[in-house]
Amino acid sequence: MLLEQERSEVVRFGKKLISSRLTTGTGGNLSCINRNRQKVAISPSGIDYEEMRPEDVIVMDTNGHILDGQLKPSSETGIHLGLYSQRPDIGAVVHTHSVYATTIACLGLEIPPVHYLVGFSGKKVPIAPYATFGSKALCENVCNHLGDYNAVLMANHGLVAVGINMLKAFSTAEEIEFAARIYYQTRNIGTPVILSDTEMERVIEKFTSYGQIKK
Ligand code: 13P
Ligand code: ZN
Repeated sequence: MLLEQERSEVVRFGKKLISSRLTTGTGGNLSCINRNRQKVAISPSGIDYEEMRPEDVIVMDTNGHILDGQLKPSSETGIHLGLYSQRPDIGAVVHTHSVYATTIACLGLEIPPVHYLVGFSGKKVPIAPYATFGSKALCENVCNHLGDYNAVLMANHGLVAVGINMLKAFSTAEEIEFAARIYYQTRNIGTPVILSDTEMERVIEKFTSYGQIKK
């Protein structure tokens, strides 16, 4: 099967989107790219994650021409392909409708560095203006507002996270959901204390050596 490993990743992390409560129903979508082969494996549109099998995942070239798979690809395929084209450093894209990130996005706000884990995105999580799901306008808005960040809120919609691989993109979606919840909660009972630019630079630098060093 073409891109078997990447298709299995899409299925595995699709189920995690549901079990980690990062989306509901058939909302959200995810993909990864094989840069050597210049091919993308992307989730099918409107399919229950629990029922999704590797052969249901669509394989396409970087221009969106379908190479394998019987189902219709995600309605946000344009966003995924657009981000792969403008960010050669990324290997996966995860789009969620997670509750707290979406709450902030429905207020039309960015997420400031209220907690150091905002550093998974960068010094903040920017917001892209609203446009209808699956539209070219939404694709342009998301692509124009991600910049060098690893996450962007989509006004009145949800979140897009990117990373060097599926695990990293997924972790960013998870940590930004946590930060969005903290931002929401702190604003509910007071005024959140926001970390400085310098501190966020220190955090982002420290993330590069965080965890176990692979031998
Ligand atoms: P798809 O099921 O077509 O991927 O759409 C879900 C979604 O979240 C649209 O923004
Ligand atoms: Zn969506």
